Amino acid sequence: MNVYDSARMADVLARLGYTPVDEAAGADMVILNTCHIREKAAQKVYAELGRLRRLQEDKKKTGGRMILAVAGCVAQAEGEELLRRAPFVDLLFGPQTYHRLPRMVAMVGQTARAVVDTDFPAERKFDRLPETAAAAAAAFLTVQEGCDKFCTFCVVPYTRGVEESRPVDQIVAEAEQLLAQGAREITLLGQNVNAYHGDGWSLARLIRRLAKLPGLARLRYTTSHPSDMDDGLIAAHGEVEVLMPYLHLPVQTGSDRVLKAMNRQHTADDYRRLVERLRATRSDLALSSDFIVGFPGETAADFAATMALVDEIGFASAFSFKYSPRPGTPAASGLDPVREAEKAERLTVLQARLEAQRREFANTCVGRVLPVLLEKPGRHAGQLLGRSPYLQPVHIEAATARIGDEVSARIAAAGPNSLAGELAVAEADA
Ligand code: SAM
Ligand code: SF4
Repeated sequence: MNVYDSARMADVLARLGYTPVDEAAGADMVILNTCHIREKAAQKVYAELGRLRRLQEDKKKTGGRMILAVAGCVAQAEGEELLRRAPFVDLLFGPQTYHRLPRMVAMVGQTARAVVDTDFPAERKFDRLPETAAAAAAAFLTVQEGCDKFCTFCVVPYTRGVEESRPVDQIVAEAEQLLAQGAREITLLGQNVNAYHGDGWSLARLIRRLAKLPGLARLRYTTSHPSDMDDGLIAAHGEVEVLMPYLHLPVQTGSDRVLKAMNRQHTADDYRRLVERLRATRSDLALSSDFIVGFPGETAADFAATMALVDEIGFASAFSFKYSPRPGTPAASGLDPVREAEKAERLTVLQARLEAQRREFANTCVGRVLPVLLEKPGRHAGQLLGRSPYLQPVHIEAATARIGDEVSARIAAAGPNSLAGELAVAEADA
């Protein structure tokens, strides 16, 4: 979602004459779009600000000015504290106010203090944003923001605010723009995307509407909460052709006791049954998930339950993290923490198992012909990088002109980070 937000900030700033550059050095403005989900992500902001301060001073020496801005959830959560630690920041704004950037930029330098806008404004950001100026072959589209679930470990409801769904017409119009600019795949985004309820529509109904748009080859959505996977959405996986057979469905832990303490609103068995139903609907559905180890009070038995669930389900990919206490969240009250060394050990064990499953899944792709959407140049000359239906990166030798094409590729090998593919015979002749 931060990638999407950054692109929309660029759209807003284009009206003021700004264009994106690859390097911070020498830029007229640098915006750090930040994440507050774990402490490590938040700490990175301060490290990066130290580096940028030097670039800001270099620019000043040459008589220029670099506006330094901090956007996103760290700005929202830390506000004045951030300005106290980094007084050279000119502009600070949260995830809900970036449509006001022209006004904020005009105010920079008018007072000695930084310009701050961390409101949750009454007017809706999405009603005020300009049309998107450029689209990649695989584009993002935010349909829902914020969250009302209040998992006890999570800052999202506090930094992104309460759940809000965008109106259907606005989403369809933005999807049409993206397709007109060359997008072939759209990923619908939301912190809790399957809670979408714009104009009373469910996510399943929105998916069926978007699936009719000419030119759309692939549709995805992320991130879903298990307890919001309704019958209609499960059915869509079996019926909507452009919906990719890959689903990111975070479970966090396999222990019912921990799930309850996390306020996840489902049990491990509920998750198992849900996966069974999804696989009955779409037998080739690949799953990915998020896991947290070392949640306060997590015992060896709780962790064993997570490992058992992983073994039973089998994930094509996954993200896993050590629990990170976040200020202001209920779980951060300091009760019954798991020792750091224990957290680290559990994470190592879990990641080894998840990596083995990822490799195993990747190996099942070798020898198959898969559709691959070619997205951008690869690392080596003559090579393009695309994605399989299961979101795996695939390297293929093909001409740059083929970016944006969905091709048939024979998967020749599976490496640690990507698959190696070659254009299937008919494609090579195309
Ligand atoms: N809304 C999604 C859901 O309910 O699963 C996930 C949103 S969150 C941006 C992405 C992932 O970060 C979560 O699924 C969780 O695994 C992880 N996460 C969130 N808060 C965390 C914390 N305090 N410590 C460690 N990991 C955390
Ligand atoms: Fe955070 Fe996701 Fe829980 Fe919402 S559902 S509080 S975004 S982890």
